[in-house]
Order: sequence, then structure tokens, then C-alpha cells
Amino acid sequence: MNEPLRQFEPVVTTPFSGIDVGDDLKLSVRREGQARQTVTVGQAVFGARRVVMIGGPCAGEDRESLEITAAAVAAGGATMLRGGVFKPRTSPYSFQGLGSAGLQLLADARARTGLPVVTEVIDPRDVALVAATADMLQIGSRSVQNVPLLREAGASGKPVLLKRGMMTTVREWLGAAEYILAAGGNDLVLCERGIRTFEAATRNTLDLGSVAVVKEITHLPVIVDPSHAAGDARLVTALSRAAIAVGADGLLIEVHHQPDTARSDAAQSLNCAQFDDLVTACRAVARAVGRDL
Ligand code: PEP
Ligand code: MN
Repeated sequence: MNEPLRQFEPVVTTPFSGIDVGDDLKLSVRREGQARQTVTVGQAVFGARRVVMIGGPCAGEDRESLEITAAAVAAGGATMLRGGVFKPRTSPYSFQGLGSAGLQLLADARARTGLPVVTEVIDPRDVALVAATADMLQIGSRSVQNVPLLREAGASGKPVLLKRGMMTTVREWLGAAEYILAAGGNDLVLCERGIRTFEAATRNTLDLGSVAVVKEITHLPVIVDPSHAAGDARLVTALSRAAIAVGADGLLIEVHHQPDTARSDAAQSLNCAQFDDLVTACRAVARAVGRDL
């Protein structure tokens, strides 16, 4: 981590106003002659022509429900499974996830469906534990500036999915990415999930402008999580289509086989049939912008 500074090629584009790349975005900014990066997680390749579709519950809740949902998203066209087991809930009295016991459920769902698994890690002390099962580590919005966690995740040897903080600028988000890259975590994917603004009609304001900015100035794949942006299942398909149109390399969608019973994020969870419809609706947009889904 304390290597001598390397010489870098000039940045590939003129910085945008409001983003002074400066000297400290060394690894996250795309340099002249540098290709865009792809990140491979099992059958999912982020940054390739095919849009990566990640589906699954907000939280793994029990074996049966995870297996039903995992099978449904696999059949519906997902190439990756999501499911939180360490949940960073706003209240300490809300369901906190199954913890380490949930990791086995994720491993079993992967074995049944063949889908690689992404799950969140919230404590630097749990990175090795989560990395022993997960195919990709998720750093959540609330953890985006947890420097020890960023370093541990970067050094874990696993691909990392870094959400944007609900309160971070693009510049700060890239600063967080830089920590992961500097720790050796080259297989890094960014995820826009909405930011907090004065608008209350949606849970967060989905900033698709950030996707365009980040694709312009970095070499990293960028995906969108419309579920946490919307906060309401009725909006998720429309935001997903917009995300693909703007150039997102993938989508992270919350799906539950019985959303009404979900122990977290019920209102924004699609049921399995809605997920199927979302994939069909997104496929048309993907084709229109020269991609597959
Ligand atoms: C999640 O993906 O379930 C999650 C907690 O997301 P975020 O960190 O974006 O709030
Ligand atoms: Mn959630």
C-alpha cells in the first residue's frame, strides 16, 4: 500500500467541472491508451456487451424462500444471485440478517442454480469469512467511507461491488474506489443506487448522470441498483430501462417470491413474475443500445 508513486499516463478525458481528478485518483481514472476493464464473476462479465442481471432478495431469510427466489431469478434470466446476510439496518431492532449461518444458504442456492453470489460485508473483521463463500463482496452505501473495510475488501482477492454512498459525491465515491484498487482489488465494479436529495417521492434520487460521468472518466464497469433508488416496486422497471439506456453494465434488482412477507425492503421488492417482465422490458432497451441481455 505504501509503494512509491508510479508514473501515470495522462487522463483520457478533460476532467468535468466539479471533479478535480488531481493527484489522488491514480488507479480509478482511465489513462490514455488504457482499455475499459471487464470484471468476471463466474458466468457474469461486467463491462462486456451483455448487461449483467443480478436478482435476489434484499436479505436471505430462510432456506426455502431463498431457494424459490433463486430458482426464479435464474429461470428469469439473472446471471448472478444477490442476498444479504449481514444487513446494515437503520434500526438495531430490525432484522439484521442471518449472519454467518446465511452464508451456507447462499452457497447452497449457488450450487442449485449455478449462479455466482454477491453479498454485503459490513465489518472488516468479517471480510475473510464472507470471502470464503461469496463470489463477490458488496460494500454498501452506508459503508462507502469505511476505510478499514475498503482496504480489507480490496485485499481479499475477491471481486468487489462498491455502492455509491447516499451522501457521497462522485468524486468521493471514486476516492473510495481508489482505496480498494490501491489495496490490490482490481476486480472492482461500481454501483449507483441513488442519493439523498430534497425529493421525497422516491426513496432516493437515482443519479443516472453519475453513470455517464463515471463511464467517461474511469475504466471500471458501472451498474445500477434501481430498487434502493426507487423504494417502490412500481418504479423499478422504468428506472432499469433508463439505466441500460444511459450505459449501465448491469442491474441489481431486489426480488422476493412473496414481497409482502419480506423482512426487509418489502415495498421495493419485485415478485418473480415482475422480475421476468422486467428482464423482457429491459432486453428491448439493451438491444436498442447495441447490447444483449
Ligand atoms: C442492499 O443492497 O440491500 C443495500 C443495503 O443497499 P444500499 O447499501 O445501497 O442501501
Ligand atoms: Mn435492500
